[in-house]
Amino acid sequence: MLQVECYSCGHISTDFTDYYCSKCEGIIGVHYEKMDKHEQWIDERQPGIWRYARLLPKIEEPYRGSIGEGRTALVRSRSIAEQLGLKHLYFKMESANPTGSYKDRIAAIGVSWAAAHHRQGCIGTTSGNAGAAVAAYAARLGMPYRLLVLEQMAEAKLAQLLIYGADVTKIQGFGTQAAIGDRVFQWIQEQAEEHALEMMVTAFRFSPYAMEGVKTISFEICEQLPEAPHRVYAPAGGGGLFCGIWKGFKELHEFGFTSHLPLTVAAQPEGCSNIVRAYSAGSDQPLPGDATTRISGLQVPNPPDGELALRIMRSGEGSGVSVSDEDILHAQWLLGRQEGIFCEPAGATALAGLIRARENGQVKDDEVIVCCVSGSGFKDYIRMIEMAEVGDVPLLSIDQL
Ligand SMILES: *Cc1c(COP(=O)(O)O)cnc(C)c1O
Ligand SMILES: [Zn+2]
Repeated sequence: MLQVECYSCGHISTDFTDYYCSKCEGIIGVHYEKMDKHEQWIDERQPGIWRYARLLPKIEEPYRGSIGEGRTALVRSRSIAEQLGLKHLYFKMESANPTGSYKDRIAAIGVSWAAAHHRQGCIGTTSGNAGAAVAAYAARLGMPYRLLVLEQMAEAKLAQLLIYGADVTKIQGFGTQAAIGDRVFQWIQEQAEEHALEMMVTAFRFSPYAMEGVKTISFEICEQLPEAPHRVYAPAGGGGLFCGIWKGFKELHEFGFTSHLPLTVAAQPEGCSNIVRAYSAGSDQPLPGDATTRISGLQVPNPPDGELALRIMRSGEGSGVSVSDEDILHAQWLLGRQEGIFCEPAGATALAGLIRARENGQVKDDEVIVCCVSGSGFKDYIRMIEMAEVGDVPLLSIDQL
């Protein structure tokens, strides 16, 4: 039987209309009854991540949306592993999801959940990838999707939303003034209640059911490797990706499907390392601080899942590392040049974190390590043109060759 459990006070409930703890307002997560080690938990006939439906929120088949999310490759590193002196380094290719990021796993569950609960539509805000994912699944399931976005949202990301038919409004000062951000959030919450809309924010704090999609990354990794890996690096903005990956490994370990629990490591840019800094300082709440990083997708000054991420880190099952924007852009370049993997800067942040941890002597040569490549290179068009130095391509006449 499914339950929801509060990560703060441990309160257990079976009320699936709750989005946070009814006792203490803490973050909740779906809790599954312990499975038998030999019980069949994968249904190969189901599309996309629905093959794991047994360990996902209960949604009847007619409401399940899929456009082929998940089942992404786990690619073994050749050059980068050798340079770092690592024997078993892998990249989880989340950039290969239908809209170009792992957010599709969240949207697949979240929009289907909304449909199954007869919501009139979805509503939310986005810096880009989450919106594209929700917009795609909303289009698929015939749901309206209302979105408020930052005034200076990157055009390429805005274009993708519009192509899927989302109803988008830019808000003046949103993204630069904290007070405007608070009001946007409040407005979205009010609208959601008034018009029976599903609020889609990719954090356990707001969308604990949709966020169950994230853990399918860990399920796939455990299927793709002979055993669970030792370490998994994930980029962290709001912290939801990190928490979701941890949750997946935790469940499989508790059910006895894996012999050990990997260490999940959050990698943040130094210019927005509110979770990692808090971890180093021994704080149980993310530390405040503006986002000065230029890495799109990781500029989250008030990480909604920061508290849960810190709880996981303090338990010894997670850890954190911060890296400069230059290190991230270098890792992005390395992935393209040396592995043939083209990702957006946020998608290279896990590798940058691993490189830093390796330099600090925290990683042993023979550990099995996975870096989550969270988003495609096509997502950040401006960075793509800049990095490629497109203007330097020589132009010759055929006779000059
Ligand atoms: C959303 C996103 C992240 C960060 O995820 P959080 O849950 O906010 O920590 C990292 N990389 C990409 C490509 C993303 O779209
Ligand atoms: Zn509680």
